[in-house]
Amino acid sequence: MTDLTQHTLLELKQGLDKKEFSSVELTQAYLARMAEKRHLNAYITETPEKALQMAKESDERRAKGQVGLLEGLPLSVKDMFCTKGVKTTAASKILSNFIPPFESTTTQHLWDAGAVLLGKTNTDEFAMGSSTITSYYGPTLNPHDETKVAGGSSGGPACSVGAHLCAGATGTETGGSIRQPASFCRVAGYKPTYGRCSRYGVIAYASSLDVPGVLGHTVADCALMTQVMAGHDPKDSTSSHRPVEPYVQMLDKNITGLKIGLPKEYQELLPDNWEKALQFLKEQGAELVDVSLPHTEEAGMVYYIVSQGEATANLARYDGVRYGMRVDGATLDEMYMNTRMDGFGEEVRRRMILGTFFTSAKGYYDYFVPAQKMRALIKQDFDKAFEQVDVLFSPAVPIPPFTVEEARHGASKGRFNDTYLMPSCLTGLPAGCANNGLQVIGKMWDDALVLKVLDVVEMCK
Ligand code: GLN
Repeated sequence: MTDLTQHTLLELKQGLDKKEFSSVELTQAYLARMAEKRHLNAYITETPEKALQMAKESDERRAKGQVGLLEGLPLSVKDMFCTKGVKTTAASKILSNFIPPFESTTTQHLWDAGAVLLGKTNTDEFAMGSSTITSYYGPTLNPHDETKVAGGSSGGPACSVGAHLCAGATGTETGGSIRQPASFCRVAGYKPTYGRCSRYGVIAYASSLDVPGVLGHTVADCALMTQVMAGHDPKDSTSSHRPVEPYVQMLDKNITGLKIGLPKEYQELLPDNWEKALQFLKEQGAELVDVSLPHTEEAGMVYYIVSQGEATANLARYDGVRYGMRVDGATLDEMYMNTRMDGFGEEVRRRMILGTFFTSAKGYYDYFVPAQKMRALIKQDFDKAFEQVDVLFSPAVPIPPFTVEEARHGASKGRFNDTYLMPSCLTGLPAGCANNGLQVIGKMWDDALVLKVLDVVEMCK
């Protein structure tokens, strides 16, 4: 292997197993490339010393025959995951000095499996956005076209994979934040079933929607990382007791006889590779079935009402007392106000105000309750579709990446941006995007099947 950074996670795993290079050598290669590509702004915090120390310990374990599933593999972590002793900001000024005294469960699983932390990646502030322009640390650029954004909110993770600044990345999704940037940066991204991965230690945005997930060069890379991160956690009562399946071993490339649904509402703007992909899936023995998800259009509105309502409650804890920065004032109220006014960016403040209204005595019955009712109808759409088919197939995002300027003028707020992504978040369904921008959505807990179909989809270039 010449340039160590130009490989998939699974290839690097093999290389390490065959002792072609050490984890320290691999980590050094990534650290050098991160320095070279710093202008892309993929990372908020780089952790070179910690990375080299972890890599050294990994090589020592390997020498003793202790080899975890991710032994020696250098990863990036979205700055929404709390990492013990490593600054964790959610890309917000209000947390710009926050060093967590604990580790998130999912990242702990990665380290327990032998992975190495390269640093913390950029995101929209508190994961609120689609382009990283709301980050206190500025936008992340698209590795394939630096005039464009990397997408968001997991723009840092997507860029860190797309620009080969890590072997794989963690991300979070509340309303499309893994799949949209994955599609923009031409990498694979996977959002497991809600409850498959623990949310403990992941900075909360909207608790009924938040899902920790992964981004990688390939679906197979995503399958391996998901396998490691998943599992029950006594610290998160919404995490499932179901046993975790060996997702990578279950990628058998066989979809013969599988019924794949094509939601007609997800076909308004189709990418160039669409027809070819349909043909390819048929050749692989799948049966394509037209289905309908009639409440797709309402999902955007429902998402904003539910997520902002939940976010106001979650972000109430940033008050200048318990976490992060403080701006003093003459009274306690003034201190709260000054801290939140200075600490939160404009988009977060906007969402806090709306969310407070949606959950106020009046807004609750006029907006929040109707939104929850509509959320149930969106779920029913999927239930009906899954009576006919095994999985759903569509483009992840119907629009190409936009520029920073376009993002500032609301390009990401256009009705197309997250239309095909938000319904599966509101329903907790497993969904992913292959590195060719095509998406598969499955039934609850069908993570293994979704990953397997995505792995086949990815063969269609
Ligand atoms: N783009 C959506 C938003 O602006 C989704 C964000 C997310 O999934 N975290 O909120």
